[in-house]
Amino acid sequence: MRTYKPRKRLVAWKLAYTLSVLLSTAEILWAQPGARSIVEQSKQIPVAYDVDVVVVGGSSAGVTAACEARRNGASVFLISDRPYVGVDMCAHQRLWLEPGEKPTSELDKAIFGKDRWATPLAVKKAMDEALLTASVPYLTGCYATEALFDERGNIAGIVMVNRSGRQAVKAKVVIDGSRHAVLARQTSAGFRGFKVGKRTFQFIVVGGEMQYGENLLGRKLDVTYDSPTSRRGPVVKYPVYEYTVSIDMKDGSPASFATAEQEVRNLVIGRGAKDCSEVLYFLPEDTVVGESRIEGSWPGAAQCDISAYRPRGVSRLYVLSAYADMDKIAAENMLRPLEFMAIGRRIGREAATMAKALPSPDRVELHGASSGSGPVSFVGEGLTGLRASKQLGMILAGPRPLPVFGQYDVVVVGGGTSGAPAGISAARRGSKTLVIEYLDELGGVGTAGLIGSYWRGNRRGFTQENDDGIGAGQRWDVVAKSEWLRRQLLKNSADIWFCSFGCGAIVADGRVTGVVVATPQGRGVVLAKTVVDATGNADIAFCAGAETQFSVSALGVLSVQLAGFPHRNLGDNYNNTCYTMVDDTDVVDVWHLMTSMRLVHGKSQGPHAPYDVGQLVDSRERRRIIGEYTLTTQDILNQRTHPDTISQHMSNFDAAAFPDSAMLLAYDMKGPDFRVDMPYRCLLPKGLDGILVVGLGASAERDAMTLVRMQPDLQNQGYAAGMAAAMVAKLDGCTRKIDIKEVQRQMAKEGVLERRVIHDRDSYPMSKSAIAEAVDGVKQLSRQHDQSGSVVSESMKALAVIMAHPKESIPFLRDAYQRTSIRNERINYARILALLGDNAGVPMLIAEVSAMTEWDEGYPYTSGRDVGNVFSDLDRLIIALGYSRAPRALDPVLRKTTILEPSTVLSHYKAVTLALRHLKSPQAIGPLAKLLAKPGFRGHAITNPITTEYGADGLSRRRSFDQLNAAFKEIIIAATLYQCGDDRNMGRTILEQYSQDVNGHFASYAQAVLDGKGLPN
Ligand SMILES: Cc1cc2nc3c(=O)[nH]c(=O)nc-3n(C[C@H](O)[C@H](O)[C@H](O)COP(=O)(O)OP(=O)(O)OC[C@H]3O[C@@H](n4cnc5c(N)ncnc54)[C@H](O)[C@@H]3O)c2cc1C
Repeated sequence: MRTYKPRKRLVAWKLAYTLSVLLSTAEILWAQPGARSIVEQSKQIPVAYDVDVVVVGGSSAGVTAACEARRNGASVFLISDRPYVGVDMCAHQRLWLEPGEKPTSELDKAIFGKDRWATPLAVKKAMDEALLTASVPYLTGCYATEALFDERGNIAGIVMVNRSGRQAVKAKVVIDGSRHAVLARQTSAGFRGFKVGKRTFQFIVVGGEMQYGENLLGRKLDVTYDSPTSRRGPVVKYPVYEYTVSIDMKDGSPASFATAEQEVRNLVIGRGAKDCSEVLYFLPEDTVVGESRIEGSWPGAAQCDISAYRPRGVSRLYVLSAYADMDKIAAENMLRPLEFMAIGRRIGREAATMAKALPSPDRVELHGASSGSGPVSFVGEGLTGLRASKQLGMILAGPRPLPVFGQYDVVVVGGGTSGAPAGISAARRGSKTLVIEYLDELGGVGTAGLIGSYWRGNRRGFTQENDDGIGAGQRWDVVAKSEWLRRQLLKNSADIWFCSFGCGAIVADGRVTGVVVATPQGRGVVLAKTVVDATGNADIAFCAGAETQFSVSALGVLSVQLAGFPHRNLGDNYNNTCYTMVDDTDVVDVWHLMTSMRLVHGKSQGPHAPYDVGQLVDSRERRRIIGEYTLTTQDILNQRTHPDTISQHMSNFDAAAFPDSAMLLAYDMKGPDFRVDMPYRCLLPKGLDGILVVGLGASAERDAMTLVRMQPDLQNQGYAAGMAAAMVAKLDGCTRKIDIKEVQRQMAKEGVLERRVIHDRDSYPMSKSAIAEAVDGVKQLSRQHDQSGSVVSESMKALAVIMAHPKESIPFLRDAYQRTSIRNERINYARILALLGDNAGVPMLIAEVSAMTEWDEGYPYTSGRDVGNVFSDLDRLIIALGYSRAPRALDPVLRKTTILEPSTVLSHYKAVTLALRHLKSPQAIGPLAKLLAKPGFRGHAITNPITTEYGADGLSRRRSFDQLNAAFKEIIIAATLYQCGDDRNMGRTILEQYSQDVNGHFASYAQAVLDGKGLPN
């Protein structure tokens, strides 16, 4: 595990800079009475971009500013904290033109066409196209966290945080379009005071009935959205309501804004709602003090004094939001979409001119606080940078105070399928609980991901309660589900922070004691006695230093479940997509997929154009911890019981990828349903205390997770883990000290667990006689590839016993192999022995492989899960030969390599490379290099995410199985060539290209191979 020792300060900071940081910190702390701060250790932050102008915020004005700055010769980079750009319009649902407002620019017209109303997708797509056409690089899902300064004290860039960690962006000019002016607050800019008391917020709801109440004023807008606009089903007309709500604000902290937002949602979201604002719309009075102030009404974008956007006394910075210096009445009109975009253009132009006249900033740093800030805490986070960062160096960040935004017993990060139930359960046990969620809704894949339907799973316990609460059958209304979860949390006094991103962990003596969170108001810390990492991606555990597994397996194999990203019409509950690999830990990959698919879905015009896209990438496989225990595929078939079962699961191996566990390489078992118990130890990252990891991030072999991951079971798992977390909080974070039997008893009482688990013991190791019997049982193992059958055969079960006890099984297997003369039985024994690394049956395998002079029917990587992602008979023999590592196995495998053609299906490529990487011989270089030289074989990497693809069909290549399979073949052959010794750098060159592929899995696999990682020992 990583440990941290505070380093001596490397640089004596100039007094002026230190003062400015202290002032900015004071500003943040001032906003939260009673708040404290911790001190984050000194760090090196990788630089991801170095540009003339950086635009923060992703509003429509930010987009026009970025495009205009670019058109005027500046290099530009833009970030948005939401998963898209066009945030002011889409996150506020302010998608209309008032009478008299007329689109004039190309972008205005692209958004509104001939209508006065736009859909969210029309806005998002138009913004994407504007940025791509202007060649402005941009990323979504990025929060601006800190301002950078040069040695003269000028602002010189920003730090951002996202799925890939934290990175720096150097820039000569900064346009701060963040919703709360987070960057300007870190300079010496003055702000008008925050006024405690009543504040007015606006919020839009689409669908359902008008809501009435005290402090609440609603009006029905003169629009209805028709949906679904597809050809299926009748068209439903959804009304749109705008509510004005008055809420008492005690301060401007993230917690106060979050509370206000939940209060507003309580008042305005009624039955039948289908969509709503993501964030509160408000006009601040605590604006920046500008070089000038716009008093009274809005003079118009063309006439207004632009110096109101420049904070007084701070050069190179613009505040492009309602926090610019103006009266509320002016701000209200300025924020109208056409005016806002027009002012963005003016600021973009001026920023470009300013940047051109400036030299590149020197010695850019993130200044630390000089002294008196208390002991240094270890803040773990991702600091490896984006792929581009490698060439751009590092920025030094001195030890800095991080404000404490709150203190809780249990903090759940990720309010999705498993996280929301965890929060509800912890709160029901009386724990002071906070749920931090990046999106503005709860339920994760089952709501935001539009998988509003169960596949398999045990529908009992909390899942049953949830289903009854929303009247769900096999399917449910995703908005109603999210809302039910939200109200359950609030009913039990939990807090919810939406649009907030967990991006780090505080670790002391091997114990997680808090999380770092990026909020719309900035980056800070929430202290916790227990953290539940329900990100489905082990984000917090990873930041805390937990060992994780993903993408490239322990054996160095690349295999990932297919993912998708759906379109969304109002009223849609289930749009299940499956067409690409996506790496959730890679901001570039996620951005590329979402942008591509917005452009693809946005191509439909007229009544069939979708209303929007989903908010969440639907990835089936994500980063998982290596836990105290890792659930295996064998455990599933052996129905292994444990003394500490925390959840029970039921499904088939719902595989959307080729398997890689040895058991499934022997025989793929996708058809039938199985049941499995998961021990509490799977939720505990090895070597870390204070944290539980639930959902897709828990510890299981990747093939085992395909069966564990069903929503009914993850909901119950989260719920049980929530109770465990509440108990851990009482034990000061000691996750291993809880009375698991108490959890089991309570969960059995609430119907979450079967009663028998209370009395279960570990059913391993199995007896010698059971192993001997199993060896006899596998002789009948069939070699069929049709995975649609639902029968669990005795030979499958026998195989699992053997694979769970390899050492003990080998003598029995050898004996059985020698004794039988029946060909099929000998093949079975030879294959299993070889997969276990024993070469007793290799002659038999060689004979079989040699006898098959042509490829049999193979299988592609595809969404057709019962027909694809399976190995053929010959594939399995070849894989087994490779695993045997017998030198004589090389020749037959190489002969098969020579009959591979570019058109040969992927399963054969996978088989050959799986074998060759075990045999690792320079003799493979010739055949592999020859294959790579075949016409059409190379050149499938997608390396330029922005310019070259746009306008061509490139972006929809993201949805092409031909592209995916061709790229897969190219990269695994190049990797194997490289690992066998390479031919004139051919393998290296291809891998280097893929290390820059927009597909994060290809990129990390290529890099891992180049780094010499992941070869089997
Ligand atoms: C395409 C697809 C189809 C499926 N089909 C079915 C099906 O038909 N039936 C079925 O039962 N199951 C199905 N599944 C499986 C099931 O839906 C998922 O396994 C399950 O929902 C995952 O739950 P989770 O809690 O791990 O993650 P999620 O539900 O994704 O929840 C994670 C939550 O954490 C949030 N988050 C992530 N990182 C952070 C962070 N750093 N800070 C703050 N918030 C964060 C996310 O926004 C999200 O809300 C499908 C899955 C996919 C992807």
